[in-house]
Amino acid sequence: MVEAPSIRGWLRAVRAVHAFPPGTRGAVWRAARELIREPGAAAYRAARDAGAGRPPDHPSTAGLPARFGERIGVRRCGICATDDVAIDEWVAVGAQLVCGECGRAVLGGALVWGRLAAAYRGRVGSPRRALGEVYRAVVEFKERRGDWVALAAPLARALALCIDTLVTRDDGPDRGGAGGDRLAGATRLAGAGTGRRAVLVPVPSYRGRRPHVLQLVALAAVRLPRVSLRLHALTKTHDFTQKGLTRREREAESAGAYAVRAAWRRGLQGRHVIIADDLVTTGATLDACARALLAAGAATVDGAAVVRVVRAPPERVVMLGPRQVRVQLRELDGRGRIPIDPGAGLIWVQFACSARCPATALAGPYPLPGLDVVGRHRWMCRCGSAHLVRVRREWLGAHRECLAVAAGDRRPAELLVAILQGPPAYVS
Ligand SMILES: [Zn+2]
Ligand SMILES: [Zn+2]
Repeated sequence: MVEAPSIRGWLRAVRAVHAFPPGTRGAVWRAARELIREPGAAAYRAARDAGAGRPPDHPSTAGLPARFGERIGVRRCGICATDDVAIDEWVAVGAQLVCGECGRAVLGGALVWGRLAAAYRGRVGSPRRALGEVYRAVVEFKERRGDWVALAAPLARALALCIDTLVTRDDGPDRGGAGGDRLAGATRLAGAGTGRRAVLVPVPSYRGRRPHVLQLVALAAVRLPRVSLRLHALTKTHDFTQKGLTRREREAESAGAYAVRAAWRRGLQGRHVIIADDLVTTGATLDACARALLAAGAATVDGAAVVRVVRAPPERVVMLGPRQVRVQLRELDGRGRIPIDPGAGLIWVQFACSARCPATALAGPYPLPGLDVVGRHRWMCRCGSAHLVRVRREWLGAHRECLAVAAGDRRPAELLVAILQGPPAYVS
């Protein structure tokens, strides 16, 4: 879907530049030029397929730098893009996995949008730095702190790749083949095949006070010549903050807060609309915008976001990253959240089986092993896969002790490690 530079691309570059404040436009113009000229998603996919032996990247994140933040795993929900193994009841639908929360929403008829494409996972206050980095980048860009203009290009590129997967039918290993795209097909793209372009709409801010999403979408659009751009189709009719609200409270605040501008209603009739945002946490904003667009006549609505925010771990549980993780006991103690007394306690390890298996394992409890001893535990999935869970404590000097956990030889989307402190009363 990403094509060679076109007149439309250059016109959009000009438009994107003018969405930024005057002092920054030279830098934004250079960024837009780079974005137009660099290889598109199709080239990334070709490069990825050529790199045999490596686990395939998801098409929406192929080609994105990992050091900028933590990319969402290939094993992700086909609807909301979460790869959080703390969510229960994953199911396999065709060739895709759907998380329990989306499964329940679909069955209850509560889901009005089709699917979400997102590039990075993020969470504030995570002991894992990678989760915080891209989140912080988005906030810095939004609040214009530091070298925020330099963040425009990588954030816009991430958004463009996500949008590209929503408008491209053949978009990766999860699609095509016998199982194909049945689940997504059931909820989306009534307009596919009509030859009409998808419409791209940013989530608006109240009275344009926070133009960061509009700026990112304007910049991302230079790479998406076949998508119709409608920067001002939506408007936010009243202001509120979502910070610290639960999902239900967010839904109540968001409901009716967005409307389609009368001038744009006609252009949305029967179209496939993509709503773009910087962060998606509960999906309440996406839901409210989708309802406004569908009421205005849109045929189907999908969402795209730079960051899929994963929820905060429950108390005494640490969210950890792919494949192998290390917890600095002192670091966690310093946060005052997980007081670990070295040498005591039990550990549970929760991890996802594989990219194709809906099962998440809750393995344990295992005793914390002795220093420099590797505890090895076998866990058998009902799909027949065997996983080896390794837990190792390492002495690194006074007050420096590490706990390293690895689950299996396959790449789990995420590990969730719970450590219970105190004397193991019921385990000898
Ligand atoms: Zn989901
Ligand atoms: Zn399995």
